[in-house]
Amino acid sequence: MALTTLFARRPAVLDTATWTPDGTTVVQRYRGAVGEREGAIVLVYTADGDRGTSSFATACLGCTYRAVKSSHSSRLAEKEAADLANTHAASCRAMDRGIPAAPDDDQAAQIVRARLQSLRMGGTNRHYVYLSDFHADRVDLQRPADFIKMKMLRLVQDEPDFLVARPTTSGTGTQFLVLPHPPRN
Ligand SMILES: [Zn+2]
Repeated sequence: MALTTLFARRPAVLDTATWTPDGTTVVQRYRGAVGEREGAIVLVYTADGDRGTSSFATACLGCTYRAVKSSHSSRLAEKEAADLANTHAASCRAMDRGIPAAPDDDQAAQIVRARLQSLRMGGTNRHYVYLSDFHADRVDLQRPADFIKMKMLRLVQDEPDFLVARPTTSGTGTQFLVLPHPPRN
């Protein structure tokens, strides 16, 4: 009897082929190929969007490819996201690099803030924030929607010139707005 086999059991390794990032619902997975070898997994997923309809996103676990909108629409239906994922999987040369490391809470908070910053518009327009604005970040963020809301509430307190909150018109829940840059003197 080969003793080594008794001790060679690996700890349960999370597999990219079955992994679901915290806060998302994965609906399809594609795998690229690099020659004869298995390439990276490309996820098609959705997440809380709070606009009443779900929209989808695609993200490659081997490279930085993220897609949340098509050339003609601001959001992706599942089939559009799947088509993008399939096309990317066919062309991506990245190897499977395992499950991306989860950021710590500070890093995750920075991802939330960076997204809000990217929504900040020129001029005097305020931007109404929806959870779907974070779709492209969810694979890197790996946090539930409550985390995003909590960090936004914190920003409302810490940076009132940047983000404000008010009750939604329906009276249930909170609407966040990114304020425009203050005018330069
Ligand atoms: Zn890729």
